[in-house]
Amino acid sequence: MRPKLLPRRISELRFVSDRHPENDKSEPSRFNEIHCLPLPASHPFRFHRFPPELLIWYFYMVMEKLVIFTDLDGTLLDFAGYSFEMAIPSLQRVKEQDIPLIICSSKTRKEIEAYRKKLGNRHPFISENGGGIFIPKGYFPFDLSYPKHEIITGRNYHVIRLGAPYEDLRRALEELRREGFQVRGFGDMSIEELAQTAHMTPPEAKMAKQRDFDEPFLHTGPTYRLSRLLRAIHEKGFKFTQGRFYHILGNSNKGIAVSILIELYKQKFQDTGIVTVAIGDSPNDKPMLQRVDRPILVKKHDGSYEPTIKIPNLIRADGIGPEGWNRSIKKLLAAYGN
Ligand SMILES: [Mg+2]
Repeated sequence: MRPKLLPRRISELRFVSDRHPENDKSEPSRFNEIHCLPLPASHPFRFHRFPPELLIWYFYMVMEKLVIFTDLDGTLLDFAGYSFEMAIPSLQRVKEQDIPLIICSSKTRKEIEAYRKKLGNRHPFISENGGGIFIPKGYFPFDLSYPKHEIITGRNYHVIRLGAPYEDLRRALEELRREGFQVRGFGDMSIEELAQTAHMTPPEAKMAKQRDFDEPFLHTGPTYRLSRLLRAIHEKGFKFTQGRFYHILGNSNKGIAVSILIELYKQKFQDTGIVTVAIGDSPNDKPMLQRVDRPILVKKHDGSYEPTIKIPNLIRADGIGPEGWNRSIKKLLAAYGN
């Protein structure tokens, strides 16, 4: 039986705050030293009365499972070269501890699969700004049923489709062009043009063009027309978001997709509970960051933080892209005793 006077969960422990001055002031960050509950020195459950092995076992048994959602472009991958090298030390520790690391990106299934292979990642992933959730078959030890959305079972994955049909998005972009807006989607570009525009290799550009739920585009018209363009997208019943590019999409976003997976992980780890973490850099990450316990924002490639992301408890990572990723995840693992 669990001793009643000890905290049931890591989140019940008290943490010392060393908040970043720019962070929201209402709730302290918990990236710091863990303090034991203030029990009297003579109390039978003072930690020093337990042998270290027993404490380690105890914390292992009651420790909430971390679940980490990560953006790719500009967050885990650096802006210029799409490299995750700076994040390798923390990536390694996350992998060693079998912490679910879920890629949640505007990239396509093909692109994410290539990065999962490089990272040795076997966890579910979210493609095209929340358009699709791909869950490897047999990953969750129960039958998947999600009343609001159709689950398509393919050869390797169960796929929860949340995004609009790609053809509808292409049609909307065509209409916008006819209305005089200067927009150019990935579907309008050749592989060579996209490779040059997005600083990708031709094989990467080929994968980026294989889209299902979301269309990234460039606005090449005058800046003053941009707000009118974004309004016109809304008037057609679609939404837009912004990462490296502007994107036109349906009623999907990263936050909706993350919430669905959080519910599934809560079922999977119902004995211990979970602590959810998300890490991003751009406006398209905001819905994802709003849904988790520990939202982390890395610096953009110019060294600034995205100014439109202001949410309670936001943790501003010390570093650009993958460097900030590495540092913040290292602190997080330390704070959770990993
Ligand atoms: Mg990004």
